Amino acid sequence: MNKQEILFATGNPNKVKEINHLLQGSVYSVKSLKEMGIEEDIPEPFDTLKENAQAKVDYLIKLKGTPCISEDTGLEVKALNGAPGVLSARYAGESKNAADNIRLLLKNLEGINERTARFRTVICYWDGIQYHFFEGIVNGSIAEKPKGVSGFGYDPVFIPENQYRTFAEMTANEKINLSHRSRAFNSFLNFLKKQDD
Ligand code: IMP
Repeated sequence: MNKQEILFATGNPNKVKEINHLLQGSVYSVKSLKEMGIEEDIPEPFDTLKENAQAKVDYLIKLKGTPCISEDTGLEVKALNGAPGVLSARYAGESKNAADNIRLLLKNLEGINERTARFRTVICYWDGIQYHFFEGIVNGSIAEKPKGVSGFGYDPVFIPENQYRTFAEMTANEKINLSHRSRAFNSFLNFLKKQDD
């Protein structure tokens, strides 16, 4: 099958892997910054996921000028008033270290029983003329300690609603069936399908 390639403004190979897994069997595939020979980190300077997603797409528009997508994701913890939120990647510092981020999160939740949290992804798609935004959310809670080795980022401490395992204890397929990113991408794919009809 001849795949239609969509430029994806991310340097995170885990995200590319997840999305291409989701796109298996479809006519689409995504191509990352690295595959385009771009090694630099695109800045995420804004206070909202939506603005950061759009900033990443703007970066690609300037560079390539062809239709492209980006996404920005945050972990929003109720007892922490929505933190780390848009600052999820650099919660424990500019090194963006996942283990440090998890350690800080668990420290900030020490002694707190209310551990409700959600992952939220915002996708920005530029079709060559205008921007379109898609959102995906998965509700859940923060575990008392990290468990599992799959996935990335906060996966070892995030237990999706109605599940007993963290994302990091699940297979790639199990996470894809539940995840914020898949939900946002499925909305995006439905939008593309409608455009083709
Ligand atoms: P960004 O969207 O790449 O800026 O990611 C924000 C932060 O959330 C980073 O620390 C990521 O590792 C983390 N993150 C994004 N998506 C996921 C996910 O699906 N599972 C766990 N952590 C994630």
